[in-house]
Amino acid sequence: MLAQSSPQAPFAHAVLTWYEKYGRKHLPWQKNKTLYTVWLSEVMLQQTQVTTVIPYFERFIKIFPNVTALANAPLDEVLYLWTGLGYYARARNLHKAAQTIRDQYQGEFPTDFNKVWNLTGIGRSTAGAILSSCLDAPYPILDGNVKRVLARYFAVQGWPGENKVEEQLWILSSQVTPTEKVADFNQAMMDLGAMVCTRSKPKCELCPLQTSCKAKNQQNWKDYPGKKPKKDLPERETYFLLLAKSGKVLLEQRKETGLWGGLYCFPQFNSKQALLDYLKQEGIDKYQEWTAFRHTFSHFHLDIYPIYAQYDEHPNWDEDCSQWKKIEEFTADYKTTVSTVNKYWYDPKNPVQIGLATPVKNLLTKFQKGLHYGKNRVL
Ligand code: SF4
Repeated sequence: MLAQSSPQAPFAHAVLTWYEKYGRKHLPWQKNKTLYTVWLSEVMLQQTQVTTVIPYFERFIKIFPNVTALANAPLDEVLYLWTGLGYYARARNLHKAAQTIRDQYQGEFPTDFNKVWNLTGIGRSTAGAILSSCLDAPYPILDGNVKRVLARYFAVQGWPGENKVEEQLWILSSQVTPTEKVADFNQAMMDLGAMVCTRSKPKCELCPLQTSCKAKNQQNWKDYPGKKPKKDLPERETYFLLLAKSGKVLLEQRKETGLWGGLYCFPQFNSKQALLDYLKQEGIDKYQEWTAFRHTFSHFHLDIYPIYAQYDEHPNWDEDCSQWKKIEEFTADYKTTVSTVNKYWYDPKNPVQIGLATPVKNLLTKFQKGLHYGKNRVL
């Protein structure tokens, strides 16, 4: 796994010289670096921009100053602090890995590459980034930015999501990574991808690699990295029930695995009829249809139809929500799509710290601000 001695020394030299002058050296996770803080930043930065990550990182570090604090926190609190950052599996994995570190490594972040790589949610590139950044250990990295720079510089054909293309890029990354100043070099490569060799309109005239970059010389940077073969995303639909009672709204926690795992969402139905049948059964005869909207995941579009109803006058009101078990019994569809753990009457004016899926958070804001204009309908 160690970087090979490089036949590409001029490459590393050019990148390091550029970094000294232009690289980012004052990001919050670059100050008082520890394996824990670097790990946290690396996970947050996956598929997320630096500017988005900064406030989340600062909040996290304040509340969980070390691995053990994170491991001891309830998952709900971790998901709450993650709300809005997306890709929630990252937060669940972070929490799980923190517990492994607490239980197996006495709360000390491991420094052995394989031990780090084996932690939940840490891939080869993240393991390399953490150890090289903190210990200057000679491990190459291959995140999205580095893939783009290398694919263009070496004119590597094919989509990096394919194993053979990725393997080729790993070999190239190993070859260009120096054996010294690895922390700076890896940071420089990430910065170069984020600031110069950008996805669209790379600033080749500012790039330290321009004289020998194949894509630049062939004027075909658009061809690299190769695009993912196009597939139309499937479309699905779901019906959210916003059930209100005295200014509170019913939420339920989803199972830890799967879509929005561990987050709180509105009760969800596969069809409008199933939802209306449920309202009827509960003796609720009025409802409003709010404006539908689309939420797109990486692998499908979800068309969301919110339906709002008031529970206030319901005679059999049950404060501890136990009667909500009926929902699960009511439709087979519902039972298979949403198996929930906890139900909770959420007060948007006094919000508790729980993780919310983004569409749920947005609908709660509308509810709180009275920004909904659904037509009243009668069953
Ligand atoms: S010269 Fe242009 S295409 Fe090549 S690595 Fe630099 S920015 Fe990217």
